[in-house]
Amino acid sequence: MATFGNLSDRLAETFKNLRTKGKLSAADVDGTVREIRRALLDADVALEVVKDFTGKVRERALGDEVSKALNPAQQVVKIVNEELVEILGGQQRRLEFAKKPPTIIMLAGLQGAGKTTLAGKLAKWLAKDGHTPILVAADLQRPNAVTQLEVVGAQAGVPVYAPEPGNGVGNPVKVARDGVKYAQQKMHDVVIVDTAGRLGVDAEMMKQAADIRTAIDPDEVLFVIDAMIGQDAVATAKAFQDGVDFTGVVLSKLDGDARGGAALSVASITGRPIMFASTGESLDDFEPFHPDRMASRILD
Ligand code: GDP
Repeated sequence: MATFGNLSDRLAETFKNLRTKGKLSAADVDGTVREIRRALLDADVALEVVKDFTGKVRERALGDEVSKALNPAQQVVKIVNEELVEILGGQQRRLEFAKKPPTIIMLAGLQGAGKTTLAGKLAKWLAKDGHTPILVAADLQRPNAVTQLEVVGAQAGVPVYAPEPGNGVGNPVKVARDGVKYAQQKMHDVVIVDTAGRLGVDAEMMKQAADIRTAIDPDEVLFVIDAMIGQDAVATAKAFQDGVDFTGVVLSKLDGDARGGAALSVASITGRPIMFASTGESLDDFEPFHPDRMASRILD
């Protein structure tokens, strides 16, 4: 994965050096941990996450599981892998469907994060799995957002609920509520509500998103974050967590050449699982997120 190319290479180099050694001294472990720390910081992983991660790796690497291992270097790689899986959220977390349909999924995130595209990707993926999703255009901030969602809906082969002119125009909370009601009437089993973002976090935008959350009481609130966002990831994720208390994270633009720090920080910082990864502009560039597979790819 392009996003983690550099980090991957750096870690591979670190482990290559380690493999030339037989038994590992405390100095060997410390040297390795220092290199891992630098590689993570250079990849824009948040400092608090790096500290926590390297602390755990160091403690385990200095313990019995490495000193008693047949191949100590291999054991260190295994530890790094396991701890990476942990910071990426541990177990894969699947969508929670409502016991009584429709399942309501709200999307939140900054403008340009990839929400509208994700709405289409998710809808297409769900439809393929036998669901009958509908999209709701509650992003009334950007002039083109409703049209863009309609285009995405058509591509996905999924209907879109959009405000009728004169009915709820300018009131995204009403549009979201009406959209959910419409979905119930039409027996759609999943409703995906697209909401407005701004280029930066602002109080008015967050209040609007929070009001929509209260009005529609979603089963899932997915926070979409652009992997390219770098060090801003932490502040943005925390602001959205305070504002809309999201239930899961979607990483978008993992196909880009970003350094990937956002991806590696967000689950750990917010305690919310990464549920999906978006890897391109086409609606098929989308997959459920598996922490273990991502860790293996990074340590490949
Ligand atoms: P929104 O403002 O959050 O609704 O973001 P959009 O869905 O409109 O996406 C913003 C831009 O990013 C669009 O040009 C999308 O085609 C593009 N985009 C979205 N997801 C991805 C992705 O995973 N990879 C790439 N390369 N581009 C993406």
